[in-house]
Amino acid sequence: MENLAPYAVCEANSRGRLHGEAAPRWRNQFQRDRDRIIHSSAFRRLEYKTQVFVNHEGDMFRTRLTHSLEVAQIARSVARALHINEDLTEAIALAHDLGHTPFGHAGQHALNACLREFGGFEHNLHSLRVVDLLEQRYPAFPGLNLLFETREGILKHCSHQNALQIGALGQRFLSQRQPSLEAQLANVADEIAYNHHDIDDGLRAGLLSLEQLRELTLFRATETDVRARWPQIDAKRLRHTVLREMLNHFVTDLIEQTRARIRDLAPADLAAIHAASEPLVDLSPALRSQHFSLKRLLRIELYEHPQVQHMAQRSQEIVSDLFRRLMDDAACWPDALGEWPRDPTLRARAVADYVAGMTDRYATSEHQRLHPSGVGS
Ligand code: MG
Repeated sequence: MENLAPYAVCEANSRGRLHGEAAPRWRNQFQRDRDRIIHSSAFRRLEYKTQVFVNHEGDMFRTRLTHSLEVAQIARSVARALHINEDLTEAIALAHDLGHTPFGHAGQHALNACLREFGGFEHNLHSLRVVDLLEQRYPAFPGLNLLFETREGILKHCSHQNALQIGALGQRFLSQRQPSLEAQLANVADEIAYNHHDIDDGLRAGLLSLEQLRELTLFRATETDVRARWPQIDAKRLRHTVLREMLNHFVTDLIEQTRARIRDLAPADLAAIHAASEPLVDLSPALRSQHFSLKRLLRIELYEHPQVQHMAQRSQEIVSDLFRRLMDDAACWPDALGEWPRDPTLRARAVADYVAGMTDRYATSEHQRLHPSGVGS
């Protein structure tokens, strides 16, 4: 890693791994984490998990896997421009959604409701549980034994109560310190990525219209500019060009604003990043406001669209039915999960781990197997 800024995370300032391991020979420690994430089962399952559109609705829509790749692409470009740790940023971006349930946010809401009396379910915290515990591939330790900084980046937010229970990783939430720039960046790249690809998918699905998007100042201005340069442009190229230019605008703004904030604070080292009063990786106020308008439009016009809501409703029923059946009926307990835990709290967490790990189609087929007559659905 050449030209790394003094406040970037590097091997010398890393807090290392929970279980000691020999250093890799041909990779750095951060590349090792990225590779462990790519080779995990949870990462492969992202291919069949919903982003907004349920997996079987069309082959062209984003899935959690392609979303994660787009986040990693954006995050890496910005990391390089900022001279921070590109490999760590990539590892965090690829891992950030590993804890997502099937059926996107609908699945998460349903599972959280099922677990209300057992501590709830939060996909972000679950991502950490996947890499710390649920991936079983190494004889010497549970999980992937990732670096502290990769785990810190995965855990974007955390309640006070949860922070008290997760040791060193919870400390920054309790003392209100900032995570590394690499973690901050992966978080913003996630938001920029989904705003743009959800517009693209929404337009392609015919659930969003150009008229609706023209309510956004930035979309309208970019479209006018593109049409002036390419008066004969067809609808498909117009969509791609406007979104590409908007994305570029956001990424450029993010790089310039973050550079300016770093210049103002002049952090000498990583400790100065942690001690800063607010995150340094951020958009300008003008673009932040466009970003919120975009989010609001997507929520109202796409995520709450009756067609998306109809699918979400159905998905919630599938997740809740699966949870209840596995919780209440020992005969349904899969052999792969070992003994049926007698303690309800342990049982609830085991069921949540199992259901959260399912892909959309596996959840659907398990639901059909356990509810052949549609009972409970
Ligand atoms: Mg995401």
